Amino acid sequence: MTCFEDPYESIREEVRKLCARFPSPYWRKLDETRTYPTEFVKALTEAGYLSTLIPEEFGGAGLGLSAAAAILETIQAEGCNGAACHAQLYTMGTILRHGSLQQKKEYLPRVASGELRLQAFGVTEPTSGTDTASLRTVARRDGDNFAVNGQKIWTSRAEHSDLMLLLARTTPREQVAKRTDGLSTFIVDMRSVRGKSLTIRPIRTMMNHSTCEVFFDNMIVPAANLVGEEGKGFRYILSGMNAERILIAAECVGDAKWFTNASIKYARDRKMFGRPIGQNQGIQFPIAKAYAAMRAAELMVHDAARRYEAELACGAEANMAKMLAADASWEAANVCIQTHGGFGFAEEYDVERKFRETRLYQVAPVSTNMILAYLSEHVLGMPRSY
Ligand SMILES: Cc1cc2nc3c(=O)[nH]c(=O)nc-3n(C[C@H](O)[C@H](O)[C@H](O)COP(=O)(O)OP(=O)(O)OC[C@H]3O[C@@H](n4cnc5c(N)ncnc54)[C@H](O)[C@@H]3O)c2cc1C
Repeated sequence: MTCFEDPYESIREEVRKLCARFPSPYWRKLDETRTYPTEFVKALTEAGYLSTLIPEEFGGAGLGLSAAAAILETIQAEGCNGAACHAQLYTMGTILRHGSLQQKKEYLPRVASGELRLQAFGVTEPTSGTDTASLRTVARRDGDNFAVNGQKIWTSRAEHSDLMLLLARTTPREQVAKRTDGLSTFIVDMRSVRGKSLTIRPIRTMMNHSTCEVFFDNMIVPAANLVGEEGKGFRYILSGMNAERILIAAECVGDAKWFTNASIKYARDRKMFGRPIGQNQGIQFPIAKAYAAMRAAELMVHDAARRYEAELACGAEANMAKMLAADASWEAANVCIQTHGGFGFAEEYDVERKFRETRLYQVAPVSTNMILAYLSEHVLGMPRSY
């Protein structure tokens, strides 16, 4: 194998075959009715793709982050949408890295088999978006349990998940030295509390994303479901966020590939003034520029994933990969609409759907401004701006 060969080409080929069973009309129909792609997620689960990162001893494939990135990138490049299930890949890492052996034995094999869905990640609240440490959801110790009260917002896939990874405050902010101390992470089994102490309300958004508000009213969580040490949860969530950023960056690279391919195909086929529109530099050059931006972002995603796998510091690379890839997919999306002219706005071409879907990644899971603030402060040594 030369260093230019893709070690994941056979996985990509299998993912392509699976995606071919879910062509455009499937996604268009779901988009129209804002319905969750249950059959697609089931197919990915049965094929073992959502347990790629779970070690073999717990029933998974035991592969690294690069393999998971190749899977998600391919899903997007084929016109499907991994946002329906990508969280299972990165939330699981928090249990794997910081959970007890008991928790790993209890949950990971059942997540790997598909018996339990670990798709929900409850961090953001209405008054603490980017400023995670100011969150207000409280988990109060009561004997062998914690009682949780508060609210989350944008808890995606909560209706289609059995477990939620939850970040809540266990020590009041006034009583901790650092504002990021006193936060704890829990595995919440939503099956027994849903509709009782846990209320889930879907939010309709510009794309089909199954995102929700969730409300906790004295929701009881066994102390055995606390991940790692009480009060250290922010650190655990942060370490999972690097994986999240790298995987979502890979999805953006996949989106950029889909947009570029769609642009090239249309630019070749569409004839105006008696020749293909792609013969005009005004059409070619933006596509070529978007392609180059995608390739550069792809290199950064690979670098970040390799550093993550080698357990090296990768905060800067994960953030840069996420920003560059989200910018590349957005540029490619914009070029794709322009190349298609009026047809870019017609649902049957899928361009407008993918355009809406990829726009999210300029904002979530971390906005471009916060990435630039991170780089300015932590990499370039300039004063903190907020
Ligand atoms: C569809 C969708 C799905 C999501 N899924 C999940 C999920 O599953 N789980 C979860 O926990 N969260 C989820 N999120 C939340 C997402 O991570 C947040 O929306 C994001 O972190 C931004 O927070 P916010 O929306 O409150 O914006 P705010 O924090 O209010 O920020 C608004 C704007 O101000 C900018 N800004 C804020 N502070 C600064 C500053 N100091 N300097 C410069 N600019 C600043 C931000 O960059 C942003 O552009 C989701 C969001 C969406 C829209």
